[in-house]
Amino acid sequence: MANLVMKFGGTSVGTPPALSQVISIVLHEHKRWDHLILVASALDGVTDSLLEAAYLAQAANHRGYRRIAATLRTRHISLVEQLPLSQAESSALQADIDRLLLEMIETCQALANTQSDTLSPAVSDSICSVGERLAARIIASLLRQNDLLSVAIDGTDILVTDDVHGNAAPLLAETRQRIQQNLIPMLNRGIVPVVTGYIGATVKGATTTIGRGGSDYTASILAISTAAQEVWIWSGVDGMMSADPREIPEAQVIAEMSYNEVAELAYFGARILHARMIAPLREHNIPLVVRNVYKPQRNGTRIHAAGASSTPHIKAVTSIQGIGLFADRSGSLTHVTQIADETLFETVGTHADVMIASQSSSRSFLCFVIPTSVGSDSIDTIRTALHVKLKQSNDTAIWQARPVSLITAIGDQINTATSLMANVIHALSGLHLLGITLGPSGCTLSVIVEVDDTEVTLQRLHRLTLTTV
Ligand code: ASP
Ligand code: MG
Repeated sequence: MANLVMKFGGTSVGTPPALSQVISIVLHEHKRWDHLILVASALDGVTDSLLEAAYLAQAANHRGYRRIAATLRTRHISLVEQLPLSQAESSALQADIDRLLLEMIETCQALANTQSDTLSPAVSDSICSVGERLAARIIASLLRQNDLLSVAIDGTDILVTDDVHGNAAPLLAETRQRIQQNLIPMLNRGIVPVVTGYIGATVKGATTTIGRGGSDYTASILAISTAAQEVWIWSGVDGMMSADPREIPEAQVIAEMSYNEVAELAYFGARILHARMIAPLREHNIPLVVRNVYKPQRNGTRIHAAGASSTPHIKAVTSIQGIGLFADRSGSLTHVTQIADETLFETVGTHADVMIASQSSSRSFLCFVIPTSVGSDSIDTIRTALHVKLKQSNDTAIWQARPVSLITAIGDQINTATSLMANVIHALSGLHLLGITLGPSGCTLSVIVEVDDTEVTLQRLHRLTLTTV
């Protein structure tokens, strides 16, 4: 059986022209595959609005969350009104929209009345899940209008997760069982299911979400659980790019990549794919294709086991804004590495990525890079904790935190292909490097530079990609 999982991102479901592209893609692929399984993201920006509504509700701002619910209602209803739907489909959809948003308002109301100091992630998840539920229903309805059998399915019915709300991890055995029960019979009856991305539920049935951008991850989980041949991610961009085109106008689409390369690209800042989606696909050897919903005639980027090039080369460069913590005392910082490691581990735990730790051989300089997205609170916590620990050990290093940029060059075998490494180092000549490190997967080389040097570093490294992409 040849199954294909296709995920449609937020930009591809938000307007009538985008949806008409989606429908023609589905109709076309429906003829070519035994079974299609579709995954829908919320319309662009909807999850952000829902999250804002949750915070407003927690602050007992009744007017605030109601305003957001009203805006979301207008946006979805007016979209439905513009779609070529029968009266029956259109009224059913409008009723669904009203019901889901009413439920959301009720959840917000209950939250506002509890007067708690913090927003419970469980409640936040249930509010945030509405966006995908709305989008999946709209797509399924359009498909029915085009004579396909289609049903919207809530991820809560098939994706079983742990109870880490906001960033839940799928429980694969349980999920597979639910899929066998609830999804496979539909496929066998010729139905095209439209599954909500991003959301799942605990064994006990509490709604969870699997991290921002998680619809990609849903697509991966569905693919490995239904033995799909391929996963296609449809978005508004041409594929994985050799750099962010806003930073490097010469950036090009990368035709082929390995799982390693794309996982690193996602980790080091390309926001196109959810970083955790790659591992399951790699494990099951399922190719992933990233394509532009507005240009279906293009191939996009194909990510597969044989995607590494025969001659190693740099495929992409990324930049991330980070905060560097610098120990600026020269001399012997005995134990500093260990102390810093412990401190980071204790204070940040597994929640903030320490993307890079770099140390000079004399231990006179030590620097960590933490993405700015962890927030200034975490950075202050780490800094204070380092001071305390170092005082205890009679070490008087002074720690400074300041913005830095982390630039990463990505290409399989960057660590073993000596000419590749030499080219990178040569391209960086004359720049003031604060740190340099190779990734464990053997396909990344990252340098830490001053923020002012971001552009020039990116440009120089990107030049290395151009000849071979
Ligand atoms: N709608 C969710 C988000 O904005 C999930 C997704 O788009 O993949 O994070
Ligand atoms: Mg996304």
